[in-house]
Amino acid sequence: MDRNTRICIVGGGPAGLSAGMYLEEKGYKNYTILERLDRVGGKCWSPTYNGRRYEMGAIMGVPSYYAVHDVEEFCGITHDGPKLNRNYKNGAGKVIEPFEPKKNLLKIPRLLKMKKQMKRFGELLETKYKGYDVNGHRGVAEGRYEGFSAASAKRQPVSGENPNLKDLCLPFNQFCKMNGVELVQDIWIGPFTSFGYGYFDEIPAAYVLKYLDFQTCMNFVKINLWTWKNGTQYIWEQLNEHLANPARLNSKIEKVERRDGKVYVTVNGEVEEYDKIIVTAPLYIPNKRRDGQVGMVDYFDAREDERALFSKIDYERYDVLACETKPEDHPEISYYVFDNMVPERLGHLMVYYRRWRDTKDQVITTYALRKHKDGPEVDYDKCRQMVLDDLKIMHNPASNVVNEWSVYYFPHVFSEDYAAGWYDKVEAMQGKYDTFYAGEIMSFGDMDETAEYSRELVERFF
Ligand SMILES: Cc1cc2nc3c(=O)[nH]c(=O)nc-3n(C[C@H](O)[C@H](O)[C@H](O)COP(=O)(O)OP(=O)(O)OC[C@H]3O[C@@H](n4cnc5c(N)ncnc54)[C@H](O)[C@@H]3O)c2cc1C
Repeated sequence: MDRNTRICIVGGGPAGLSAGMYLEEKGYKNYTILERLDRVGGKCWSPTYNGRRYEMGAIMGVPSYYAVHDVEEFCGITHDGPKLNRNYKNGAGKVIEPFEPKKNLLKIPRLLKMKKQMKRFGELLETKYKGYDVNGHRGVAEGRYEGFSAASAKRQPVSGENPNLKDLCLPFNQFCKMNGVELVQDIWIGPFTSFGYGYFDEIPAAYVLKYLDFQTCMNFVKINLWTWKNGTQYIWEQLNEHLANPARLNSKIEKVERRDGKVYVTVNGEVEEYDKIIVTAPLYIPNKRRDGQVGMVDYFDAREDERALFSKIDYERYDVLACETKPEDHPEISYYVFDNMVPERLGHLMVYYRRWRDTKDQVITTYALRKHKDGPEVDYDKCRQMVLDDLKIMHNPASNVVNEWSVYYFPHVFSEDYAAGWYDKVEAMQGKYDTFYAGEIMSFGDMDETAEYSRELVERFF
């Protein structure tokens, strides 16, 4: 593509900013990033409290976050944040150690079985499911893998046939059952469900395993994780500062029209002309949201195929509260509450995070899900109250809520649409209307998968 191509990028989160970085590295100068808010980072939002930054959105990374590492190198920063520590509580607020055989004599047979299944699962993923961990979802529903290997920072192009990959369209619980490894869900659930990515009876295994490939999941188990002292938002603020064309904040896009090989974007009342557009903002939002966010189909001259495909997207209702506590009520460390990670306990506190171990004058953050499959949402205020009540049960009551949001989180499609080739149909549309689709839906809702997808998009099409 001509290096002078004028490219509009919608969204100044990890996907949009890294698209800018990779385009720039390839010699493109005419890119413009439009961000609707007055800050960059999207779901990486790290406000300040008592002089330190806490996390309302993304918290951590793992050593295989190669795209995030590219950004760190581009900006000359590193992951310098506080070490993560966590323990477990049951639904009654008692500290438990579910994986410690000596503390769970009755559970020893189950724990031994789980250990065996873990080993078997690791082998299955390497053999029967070869290609499962390639970034993005191209070919999976057709039993192929195609993309860039996640095995090393070099990201070599890989492709091949593997009919077994079609199994990844199944919900993760069914996938585990058919492979005789049901108990591995006890391990995967921590960094999956409590992190807001939904329940294993509704989410296709492809999403679970592309995010939590075996190595990544083991990094979570061993707490071999990265954090950033100034928050994950700092990564993207730094990137924005280092880009030749930083994001234009407070850009309200009213209309996008694509005709005669050009893209006309009406932003803050003015029409701007581009040659191509990359959308990293939500493609479709099925309901009206309090924060006013809408999907791309609402302000683009969306075509029939775009509407038909994007209307299949659902997302998680994931709520975060930042709470003050009295010093004597401050938790020792962060806690997982496994009892609350089941659909029957929808709206309850699943995990809470103490970021700073050296002080008790900082906030803790709490996390809850409000929707399961196509069932009704738990009302926001009701969920908020349930979480505050749960903190009391956990013996860490909040004295005040200083910040809160309900996030448009982890857009995805369900098994039926995944198996019907949703991803291959959208991939076939890349570039068709001078439009490219990136961001969370195209890979997975974490910082690295989205940035990595932007890297690949630039590599493949620009
Ligand atoms: C509570 C929470 C915890 C998380 N924990 C982790 C974690 O520990 N590790 C991890 O890797 N990831 C984590 N994530 C996920 C991670 O933050 C996201 O996957 C990542 O930010 C996605 O990047 P994105 O650019 O695709 O989307 P976003 O971050 O959502 O960015 C999209 C941007 O587009 C903008 N936008 C939307 N509509 C428009 C429009 N019409 N015009 C212009 N701009 C628009 C938005 O304002 C936003 O800035 C977490 C997220 C949350 C909320």
